[in-house]
Amino acid sequence: MENFLGIELPVFMPDATLGTVRSLTTDQIRETKTEMLVVNTFHLFVSHGVEKMRALGGIKNLMNWEGKILSDSGGYQVYSLIHRKKNMGKVTQYGAYFTSPHDGKKYLLTPENSIDMQMALDSDALVVLDDCRSSEISEKEAEESVRMTTIWAKRAKDHYEKHYSNSKKKILAVIHGGNYQKLREKSFRELNSMDFDGYCFGGWPIDEKGRLVKEILTFTCSLMPSDKPKYAMGIGTPEDIKKCLNIGYNVFDCVLPTRNARHGLLYVGKDKIRITKDIYKMDTDPVDSECDCYTCSNYSRAYLHHLFKYKEITGKTLATIHNLRYYSRLMGR
Ligand SMILES: [Zn+2]
Repeated sequence: MENFLGIELPVFMPDATLGTVRSLTTDQIRETKTEMLVVNTFHLFVSHGVEKMRALGGIKNLMNWEGKILSDSGGYQVYSLIHRKKNMGKVTQYGAYFTSPHDGKKYLLTPENSIDMQMALDSDALVVLDDCRSSEISEKEAEESVRMTTIWAKRAKDHYEKHYSNSKKKILAVIHGGNYQKLREKSFRELNSMDFDGYCFGGWPIDEKGRLVKEILTFTCSLMPSDKPKYAMGIGTPEDIKKCLNIGYNVFDCVLPTRNARHGLLYVGKDKIRITKDIYKMDTDPVDSECDCYTCSNYSRAYLHHLFKYKEITGKTLATIHNLRYYSRLMGR
């Protein structure tokens, strides 16, 4: 598999959760050699809903982004807002009931309205709703997540084929099963019988000690068809991405490069530097002399240090540009 939606693989997608990579314009995103973004279906479902987003012509139109967009399914919020916090909602076979963290209102996300929302966003690649859990769950819990994910995937695929089959979007499904190989295999087999355009490793990919769950990632990747994208969702640090590239994954997304940038953590070589440290106050070198990004081509560490010290927004912009270019370089761009 060498390309996906015309984009050379591997590809890293920065998180444009609400239709923006914070502090950057679309031109600035493009200049980091970023070709594809991931947007968050649940948050845009809460902010706009299907009809309003459709009326606005979708998120690409709204943000004037000419690259590609992948929308997640909302499954991650099933994990982060329901399974992890318990009091924010509940999962039933029909769908996931949420209390919005923004306005306290109740929302119901179903396999069908997740597809409707992603179609309203005009995403190029859609992910079907999944019952996402931590990777360190009991076998019984993992079984339940596989069962629900298969039922939801079938409903989502049927709904897509009934209402949108002429639209030629790519539809991806998420393999679950925690740390249990036989359940990962079962999940993949059931999803693969529905013939999706790509497969994702689902579940939180980091264990309680902060290590990548490498063994189950490797096993799950070995199940995925070689002619379809293999998406390691939410991964990760540059080191973990390199490990997953070696395993065979070729699609990545993570909040780390942008979130770290906003906190003044910049990737340089194999390390990160904290630009707010006093040692950078008089440092006239670029952030990374090997980097060709706009920030490194035009400004010094001393300038970024100064901007961060006085909490100037431009500091976040310049740091985000550099970190995204670091990640696109990781992908060989
Ligand atoms: Zn740079």
